[in-house]
Amino acid sequence: MKKDRRDFLKLAGCAAVAGVGSSTAFHSLLRGEAEAAGLRRAGTKKEKTGVRLGMVIDIQKFLDDQDLARRCIRVCHQIHNVPEFGNPKDEIKWLWTDRFEHVFVKDTHYRQAQHLQGMPVLTLCNHCDNPPCVRACPTKATFKKADGIVGMDYHRCIGCRFCMAACPYGARSFNWRDPRGMDEHGRSFIRELNPDYPARTMGVVEKCNFCSKRLAQGKLPACVEEAAGAEAMFFGDLNDPNSEVSRVLREKFTIQRRPSLGTYPSVFYII
Ligand code: SF4
Ligand code: SF4
Repeated sequence: MKKDRRDFLKLAGCAAVAGVGSSTAFHSLLRGEAEAAGLRRAGTKKEKTGVRLGMVIDIQKFLDDQDLARRCIRVCHQIHNVPEFGNPKDEIKWLWTDRFEHVFVKDTHYRQAQHLQGMPVLTLCNHCDNPPCVRACPTKATFKKADGIVGMDYHRCIGCRFCMAACPYGARSFNWRDPRGMDEHGRSFIRELNPDYPARTMGVVEKCNFCSKRLAQGKLPACVEEAAGAEAMFFGDLNDPNSEVSRVLREKFTIQRRPSLGTYPSVFYII
């Protein structure tokens, strides 16, 4: 046994025998050991580097204004030319709602608070800090930018859907049909075409990009702007202690989707 490992065990044993404060001492030692082994606490990096953009969603505010989620989805899908194919099988989702118990899958057999069951929760790509979709993509069509956004290069996407299989949050959609096409009534799948944003083609995967084009213009993501009046969504640099999003994370209790998977989502929920 290596000396430092032996010292660690000896110290932990002494703390256990001493009783007073032993739990705290042991757990801080254990945490240090875990970090040394490369494990990281959910949602934080051991060493913070550069900008990491993230979002906070206040679930209660969406309950208070039950039309707010629909408005956020509408504005997002309109500016990004997200098609409406008219059936759930082909649905393209950048921003959508799902039931609380589906979004925050139980990893305990104990009952969750009943009032949360069935509650619609706004969901989107989590722009994971450790994104499995990026690792799975063979063409680098999915990539992580320096600011933490997980982006898509639609021209590089070959439609293999490896990224969809790798994403544990169902945050990606595949265009089984041509978004620029029309339905049997001659109605365009893209209801109101935004000429400033590209429409995709059949066979391409797509998802939320945190409104990277708007961010480049100094604007907030469209959904966050839509929810600003209700103070229901916050956005900014998670690594900047002075950002609004950091302030909210300091002041409110938040959860992330399936943190045990180690993807480190950049989207947090106030429940
Ligand atoms: S939520 Fe899914 S698509 Fe988004 S970054 Fe994480 S793994 Fe990738
Ligand atoms: S950040 Fe932009 S792209 Fe992502 S869900 Fe919000 S509006 Fe849509």
